[in-house]
Amino acid sequence: MKYTKRFRVNPGQRVRLKDFDPKFKDHHEGHEAAADEIERDQQKLRGLQELLYADRQSSLLICLQGLDAGGKDGTISHILGAMNPQGCRVTGFREPSVEEQAHDFLWRIHSAAPARGQVAIFNRSHYEDVLVVRVHDLVPKAVWSRRYDQINAFEKELVENKTHVLKFFLHISKREQLRRFEQRLDDPTKRWKISESDYKEREFWTDYVAAYEAALTHCSTAHAPWFVIPSDHKWFRNLAIGRIVVEHLEALDMKLPEPSVDLRHIRREYHAAKRLSTVRGELSAHIRSASAPRRDSTTCAGAGRRPGSPGRSPAGAPVGRASPPRGRPPRGTPPNASRALPRSRPR
Ligand code: AMP
Ligand code: MG
Repeated sequence: MKYTKRFRVNPGQRVRLKDFDPKFKDHHEGHEAAADEIERDQQKLRGLQELLYADRQSSLLICLQGLDAGGKDGTISHILGAMNPQGCRVTGFREPSVEEQAHDFLWRIHSAAPARGQVAIFNRSHYEDVLVVRVHDLVPKAVWSRRYDQINAFEKELVENKTHVLKFFLHISKREQLRRFEQRLDDPTKRWKISESDYKEREFWTDYVAAYEAALTHCSTAHAPWFVIPSDHKWFRNLAIGRIVVEHLEALDMKLPEPSVDLRHIRREYHAAKRLSTVRGELSAHIRSASAPRRDSTTCAGAGRRPGSPGRSPAGAPVGRASPPRGRPPRGTPPNASRALPRSRPR
């Protein structure tokens, strides 16, 4: 079964996270066994993103949500690792600034939406406004409860304007979160990720689960689906998300755009430029060889000077430029090219 179908929350489906196994890894034994498959998807993703970029007809928005240590950063580097950064943009959403708070909650989100041809990845998103905001009563219930419909309408508008929206919930177990917190403590290269709020938020695990279940239930629509991704195994999380993005982009059946120029004309210009460059190359090779110092010229004034640089007479007066080439110009020299040749030295 395609992963798009397997992990998708169907519109109207009531989500209970306990029904989803965060350790699921399909038929794969482990990372090593799945490595080739992951790499194959990465290659496909690279080509598909290039098509999206060249085509410039639509864009892709990937929203990543999950509890702390759920693997949002790792997913971003996996997906971006397969893409040309020129066509990508990552935005992380933190607590809103004073300016952002003075606007509606979607204002900062809309301005980070992808332009045509681009892929945007959201590290957290507008869903925080029905997650952390709901868990900590940051606004009254009457305000956050209206946001599910507002989010659906906003995402519909994006989709109607040719932005494809894919939303991934990185589902980890509470035990796996603690294991990752432990790693952050033990591994000096991961300590920078530790935050005071990690343990504080962990206390609200049940409230977050309820908030996520509500968001996944109300906001997985036909136009902008949610996917619940088993994420206790980082490699399987990468495999599943990479595969879903590939499946989605492949279904768009994108094509490289037709060139906007007259190719026959451009081909003629190319051949003319190539002929000219060959002639120039031959001419300068000819000039170089003709002006190279002769073996028996050690006693001549200017012997050993750089080719083409004016020499000096014993009295110090310049003795003129390097010798011009002798004989006929090289084969293929156009008739008027002889004008570019230096005049012959009188014998
Ligand atoms: P991090 O992703 O670890 O950098 O943390 C970002 C923090 O910003 C998290 O604790 C989020 O819950 C918080 N955050 C993101 N969006 C909002 C929001 N709209 N309102 C309040 N807090 C938010
Ligand atoms: Mg954090």
